[in-house]
Order: sequence, then C-alpha cells, then structure tokens
Amino acid sequence: MSRPGKIQPLQRSSPNRDPDRGGDRPRAIVLHTSAGTFEGAARWFGSAESGVSAHYLVGLDGRVAQFADETETARHAGRVLDPTARIAADADANGVNRFTVGIEFEDGGDPLAVSRPASQYETGALLIAEVAARWDIPLDRDHVVGHREIFAAKACPGNLDVDRLVARARELPVDVAGPVKPDPAAINPVFVVGVPRSGTTWVQRMLAMHPEAWALLETYMFSRQVGLGALLRSLPPPAPEQGIDLPPPGLGRIFSRDELVAELRAIAERWLARGSDGSRFVVEKTPWHLSDLELIAEVLTEARFVHVIRDGRDVAVSVAAARSTWSRFAQTSGAQTVREIAGLWSDAMLERERWQLSIGERLLEVRYEEVRADPAEACRHLFAHCRMPHDERLVTEAVRATELDRSVRPPREDRAVRSGLIGQWRDRFGVRDGWSFERRAGEALRATGYEPDARWWRHCRVRSRL
Ligand SMILES: [Zn+2]
Repeated sequence: MSRPGKIQPLQRSSPNRDPDRGGDRPRAIVLHTSAGTFEGAARWFGSAESGVSAHYLVGLDGRVAQFADETETARHAGRVLDPTARIAADADANGVNRFTVGIEFEDGGDPLAVSRPASQYETGALLIAEVAARWDIPLDRDHVVGHREIFAAKACPGNLDVDRLVARARELPVDVAGPVKPDPAAINPVFVVGVPRSGTTWVQRMLAMHPEAWALLETYMFSRQVGLGALLRSLPPPAPEQGIDLPPPGLGRIFSRDELVAELRAIAERWLARGSDGSRFVVEKTPWHLSDLELIAEVLTEARFVHVIRDGRDVAVSVAAARSTWSRFAQTSGAQTVREIAGLWSDAMLERERWQLSIGERLLEVRYEEVRADPAEACRHLFAHCRMPHDERLVTEAVRATELDRSVRPPREDRAVRSGLIGQWRDRFGVRDGWSFERRAGEALRATGYEPDARWWRHCRVRSRL
C-alpha cells in the first residue's frame, strides 16, 4: 500500500481499475483536467459505464479524492497518439496506465478558460510531490506530463500549468516517511547461465543495456556449495515413515520445506533489490548457477532464465586460449582439459530436456552461434523473453554496444578465439583431442545437433594446436 503523506484524500471507489500493475510500478505521473465539476467527475469515475478513472481528483477548492490505490492500475491514459512524452515509449496495450499515476484537476466544465485558484495548484503540487517521493519518481517534465503529451488528439489538461505544478512540487518539503524502498517483489530477476565461455557474458551485457536493467555479476547467491542452495539442501528429501517421530536434522528442525522456500524467497528478493539499486530488472550471471537452475526456479517463481549454449568443442578451444593468456591469474574453473570440458559440457547438454520440463517457458535456450549470426534478432528475442519493453532503437543500441569485435582486447590475447569465431576447433583440435571429446560428449553433440557424425574426430589435424 502507498504510505500516507500530508494529503488525506476522501476515499472514493471506482470499478475502472486493475488490482495490480502487472509487475510494473509507478514511474511517471499524468495530469488531466476533468471537463466538469468535482462531483460530476467523481460520479463519472465511479460508474462502470465510463470505463475510466484517475487515481486522484483535485478540486478547485483544494479537496482531494482518491479512486484507486497507487499500487493499482487506473484507466486514465490507455491510448497513445503522436506522443511527445518520452515515457510513451514504454506504452503497451494499456497505454501508459501500468506505470503511471493519474491525477485529474477539476475545471468546473471549462477546461481551457477556467481560472484556477492558488489552492488547487498548492494542493496539486503537494500531491505530486508526495506521489513522486513514494515511488522515487524524478520531479521533472519527463516524468510529470499532461495527457495530450501522450495522446495528441486531446486538449487535456486544458489550461492547467504543468510547468508551474512541477516547479512548485520541487520546492515543497514532503513527509511520506522517506521514499518507499523499491518493493522487492516488483523486481524482475533474470538469470543468465551456461557452461563458462559459452557467451554468457555477451548475453548478459546485451540484456543489461536495457535502461531499466541492472547487471549483477557472479553472486553465487543460489549456489549449493556456497549460497542459499546449501540451506535448502540441508533439508533431506521427504523420507518414508520409519516409526520414530524425530524431526529431520538441520533446518528441518525449524521449518518445513515450504516454509524454508518462503524464507529463502524473502531473502533472495531483498538481496536482489539491494544489489540492483532499485532497477526494475536485475540480470544476474553466475555460470555455475547452471547446476542450481531448478532450485532458483523453485524459490523465485517469477524469475526468467536464459541458458546460453555453444558447440562444446569451441568452448574447449576458448577455455584453452583463456588459460594460456590468464595463467598468472590462477583460474579456478577446474575443467581445463578437453576431456574435462567435454564432461562438463555433456552433463549440461543432457540436462536440457529435464529443465525444459520443470522450468518450462520461463527458460529460454539461446545458441551462441545464432546470436553471432543475427545479434539483433537474438536481442529482440532476449528482451521479449525477459518481458523488457523495447523498440528497434534500443535493440540497435544494445547490439552496437556489445559487438564482439569492438571490445577492447589485451594485446597478448588470442584474437581469433576471443573474437568468438565459430568452428575454431577445426583448426585447433588434434585427432586425440577430437577422440577424447567424442568419447565423453558424443551423445550430447548428437542431442544438440552440433555434430551428426560420430566419426568427425577422424578429420582433425594430426597435431593439436590447443
Ligand atoms: Zn485526460
């Protein structure tokens, strides 16, 4: 619920609202004029027939009525036409309703020529200041707009002076017990996972180019070795009754499994909210979360997942190249030989089917080779999967900013490999590398379609160049 400020509105009600914001939150304020009296507007918002409502109505005499909670969606700006307001770029089928607070100003039926007393401006400015403080909305003309800046066919808000309201709102001290901290449940977490050196960094950076996204690198938050996953694992799976009524050891002495999952959810949401600086989306990347996918999906039931996969043979080449360049930095990812990479990669590839079943549409599998071939298409797909609003301009920006060839590389680095060439293994794998990879990961090569021929390794070069 929104917190009270100095303004104590008369509580009215309207059928023309939705009980939530579809995962979004107020990010801007839209101002309207009532084209009628205070009571006329209040009746209009209260009737199902009108189909519209604002959150607030401010009278010419400074009275304020409220028709919807700020956490609810009110139907006040559902259409977009030739907008000049930047926030209109985020509009969807509900116009800008999902992420705005609507404030109506009474005009006594004369929207263009009414003389608006100082009391209406003073109360309106205070209301705007309080709404803005509650939701951390910047008090500027990008975030406080008149209705016609969204829908150009309207004269609304008539002669209401929006600049004056914003200027006054900035001067007013507000008392809403400090800005509301971002509601942890309003954060949309995205987890990018994959076998290391499969392109997870690239995909994460692409998603993090979204203006409302925040990138979090390698938190290991859910790791079953060092993160929350370990706590959940301390509860043994339900065992058949053995006649002795002992509580299960570990946290099972305190919580049932459901209770523990709820506890972990609260912690994870708080931590993600803190780690994401209040951004609407947080894009976490810990390659090793791969083995904790189902656990994360159980705890964070709204989380989205992106699994980046790449031909395991190119992964092996990339790991070998990184190892030779970075040896002095003591790499800790154990699997550094072809056989080890083959094992790691194969295990992950063969789990895919089970993940698809248990996680379903929340999991998107992205092939590195496809991102490489058509980054813009991949980027659109990624934004859509993560439910991030986007347009072509943003897609172009994100692709350009993350182009592999543009990234700065240390001079000694193996350029060909690090620039992400596809099929590099053909030039690097020796016959023994190939055979060893096939023996461990042949089934996965077939299952992923990367290699239909079980005897491919025979064509490798005689001497390894790894
Ligand atoms: Zn309007």
